[in-house]
Amino acid sequence: MSRMRGMIIAIDGPAASGKGTIAKLVAEHFGFHCLDTGLLYRAVARDVERAGFRLEDTWAAVSYARGLDAATLDDPALRGAEAGDRASVVAKIPEVRRALLKYQRAFAERPPGAVLDGRDIGTVVCPDADAKLFVTATAEVRAERRFSELRARGDTTTGYAAVLAAIRERDARDSGRADAPMKMAADADLLDTTQLGIEAAFDAAVGLIKRKIGQQGAA
Ligand code: C5P
Repeated sequence: MSRMRGMIIAIDGPAASGKGTIAKLVAEHFGFHCLDTGLLYRAVARDVERAGFRLEDTWAAVSYARGLDAATLDDPALRGAEAGDRASVVAKIPEVRRALLKYQRAFAERPPGAVLDGRDIGTVVCPDADAKLFVTATAEVRAERRFSELRARGDTTTGYAAVLAAIRERDARDSGRADAPMKMAADADLLDTTQLGIEAAFDAAVGLIKRKIGQQGAA
């Protein structure tokens, strides 16, 4: 079979589910490119705020999304839960999402293959992906992971309850928005990492992906 594009693997799920780490390991395993699409929304929020606008300012968010420079995604300021919370504010704006679509779709087609992780990859960005995973874990376990990360970084001021509340708030914003809400694609495989360490989660992800790709090859 000849194909114009490479293999596409879509990995969606909520914050701190492990999807980002799984996506990187899966991309390494298959020798594919990897795009953390959350960085695009984080970068738009960064650019809007740096220019002195409010995140709710639709005009500013749309113009910074249209002018986004992908070379600036490797920025330490984009890491951390707070940058993610700010990203979820601009991510609600449909024109912002539309402006970021072209870059994501072009990336997805890079040969020999690409892994994209986000919230709407399997549903909106790449509905025809070759394999789709929806990675999740309970809000409590995701909050525990984030809480331990904060402690490891020396942050002793943020309590577990505040971390859990922030996770729940972001989940609600991402699942409740009208445009491209976070949801599992009908043809995605569910990977619940609540009881899994990263190695076990990675093994499970590769197993699910190989099964999908194998089925496709057999078709
Ligand atoms: O995955 P990450 O935590 O970096 O995403 C930050 C925020 O960006 C998410 O909470 C979500 O609001 C938004 N996002 C999105 N669609 C994606 C990726 C991220 O709306 N594909």
